Amino acid sequence: MEKTIEQIHREALEEIESARDAEDVKSISIKYLGRKGAVTQFLRNVSNLPAQIRPEAGKKANETKKDLDALFKKTLMHLESSSRETDDRIDVSLPGRVTPRGSLHPITQINQKICDIFIRLGFDVAEGPEVETDYYNFEALNIPQNHPARDMQDTFYISNAIVLRTHTSPTQPRIMEKQRPPVRIVAPGKVYRCDSDLTHTPMFHQVEGLLVDRNISFGDLKGILTTFVHQMFDPETGLRFRPSYFPFTEPSAEVDIRCVICKGSGCRVCSNTGWLEVLGSGMVHPAVFENVGYDTTRYSGFAFGMGVERIAMLKYGIDDIRKYFENDLRFLRQF
Ligand SMILES: [Zn+2]
Repeated sequence: MEKTIEQIHREALEEIESARDAEDVKSISIKYLGRKGAVTQFLRNVSNLPAQIRPEAGKKANETKKDLDALFKKTLMHLESSSRETDDRIDVSLPGRVTPRGSLHPITQINQKICDIFIRLGFDVAEGPEVETDYYNFEALNIPQNHPARDMQDTFYISNAIVLRTHTSPTQPRIMEKQRPPVRIVAPGKVYRCDSDLTHTPMFHQVEGLLVDRNISFGDLKGILTTFVHQMFDPETGLRFRPSYFPFTEPSAEVDIRCVICKGSGCRVCSNTGWLEVLGSGMVHPAVFENVGYDTTRYSGFAFGMGVERIAMLKYGIDDIRKYFENDLRFLRQF
């Protein structure tokens, strides 16, 4: 008995299913669709079929031919592209492509290092707002209206009573208002002054420190800040405390370190003095304690503040502060 077109179709599908490579597909294609192929033969014999089934059989045979032709082409394409993939398989001996890794900005690194040193000394980290009231930025720190110290700071005013903070010191009264002694905090953050040259930028970073407890003396201040300088720079770094003036501390002292460039013999960076100023400090002024309601007969404390860019400049020997803000990747990648 002659096979029906459905049988031929089914057999072709089974064979293509088990084809292993392009050669198999090609020979199956010839077997069914070639000049002497099964489908071709069937089509040729359609005219011999009884008249009542002839149109239906012819239609089905043409559909089968189209269907198998498309399937063979698709299978061939698939087999050929997957053999191409095997040809360019990954060469595991090639060195890998390195994705450039980002890193922390040098100012962020120094800022973290400063805070880490104080955290190890038992300090907590506190933060205050950058848009500050005149009260916290000046009044609470013993800098009343018309005080000459206000001229020392080129303030950006938002309104008469609101400023961009000129230092991180406002964090001191803000913390003390909320917390009874003991207080041990460092407060890092951005500060703003209307000033721009080789060593000044309108925005820079400070870290403020405050320690309040019973029986805190200037000796504690010296001990903590000496430890800080030795951990930040070098355990051999010489330092000195030089009398100074800040409205919110009394007595006040600037801390200088031996010049990191000339080691004290005198150079352009230290203006031939052999010393470099790194931070300001002092015993908290009683007026500041009174503003926050601390009993000055029971508590004493010290405060200090430093510029992060200044520390970074000294640590890395860079004398133009603006380099830290230009964000030239060739500069930043060195850190
Ligand atoms: Zn020097």
